[in-house]
Amino acid sequence: MKIAVLPGDGIGPEIVAQAAKVLEALRGDGLKIELEYAHIGGAGYDAAGDPLPDATLKLSQQSDAVLLGAVGGYQYDTLPRPMRPEQGLLRIRKGLGLFANLRPAMVYPELVNASSLKPELVSGLDIMILRELTGDIYFGQPRGIRTLDNGEQQGFDTMMYSESEIRRVAHVGFQIAMKRGKKLCSVDKANVLDTSMFWREIVIEVSKEYPQVELSHMYVDNAAMQLVRAPKQFDVILTGNIFGDILSDEASMLTGSIGMLPSASLDAHNKGLYEPCHGSAPDIAGKDIANPLATILSVAMMMRYTFAREDIAQRIETAVRKVLQQGLRTGDIFEPGMQKIGCAAMGDAVVAAL
Ligand code: NAD
Repeated sequence: MKIAVLPGDGIGPEIVAQAAKVLEALRGDGLKIELEYAHIGGAGYDAAGDPLPDATLKLSQQSDAVLLGAVGGYQYDTLPRPMRPEQGLLRIRKGLGLFANLRPAMVYPELVNASSLKPELVSGLDIMILRELTGDIYFGQPRGIRTLDNGEQQGFDTMMYSESEIRRVAHVGFQIAMKRGKKLCSVDKANVLDTSMFWREIVIEVSKEYPQVELSHMYVDNAAMQLVRAPKQFDVILTGNIFGDILSDEASMLTGSIGMLPSASLDAHNKGLYEPCHGSAPDIAGKDIANPLATILSVAMMMRYTFAREDIAQRIETAVRKVLQQGLRTGDIFEPGMQKIGCAAMGDAVVAAL
């Protein structure tokens, strides 16, 4: 297992160090794990004048999987756009052909009170949002700001999806559903958008190869509503880039604890980039108080999706559960009566539970 480790900025190095402890513990158990570190984001700019240095992209391309912390920081906010940390993220996703973004939204029984929804609505929640990541209105051409014949200015973007783009992400969706509750809800806006009508047509075609999976369709406005009304009705949600961007953030907040949410971005061969859903949290960087569990759970996803080691994925997830059951909490998920610990101590506790 050759893993490129890109700590990035802010709390990135702190949380990635805890995930690395977990990987090292697994190595102690006989797994052949090779870790190689490189810079990305502001750290890439500081080290090599580029948020995605060539060496980082090359290392990532040559690795089986990439573990990333987070990028971004106040000191980079005034840089010209191509040098901003976030560009490093966009470019590595593109450079690795990562078109399928998986974001689970899961509520741990121990953290059910962290949600802004009533406990009975979210207790036991376990949904997976699959967002297409490299197409749609975010990348469609033409786009820009133009001047019309009457002299008025107009901003415009182009929503588009090609058949192959829809097919490949739909296959990923059905395959994930097969490994879970065998229910897939495709979210679109087919009542208004031609792109969505086409999306729906192709998803239905692909579904014929997965007769065991129950396929449903939902308009995005209704999906946004259902996610806060009755989120447990969903198993896997499959959707395009812009709808997925919004719905996955909405779904992550159902859990109330952004420090707990991992993510995976996969290419066509299950090579993946794994990172927490949250950002670099510059407000708490360097204080040893960040929650490393989202990053540790990203390693579990890596074991599941890139290395097909469901056993190890579950071992890591069980270790995280155990630590929560022991009452150990970082500040972001702390409740009275629990024991507050720091980032490094949380990493140690997971390793001990493992
Ligand atoms: P953020 O996710 O970094 O932080 C939002 C809030 O959540 C902050 O109060 C932060 O302290 C808290 N938080 C986040 N992760 C936490 C953790 N693991 N443990 C405890 N608390 C945590 O979002 P933001 O403040 O909007 O952005 C900060 C920087 O991160 C910006 O530069 C932004 O561009 C960048 N960002 C990067 C990514 C990424 O690397 N994938 C994603 C989002 C934002």
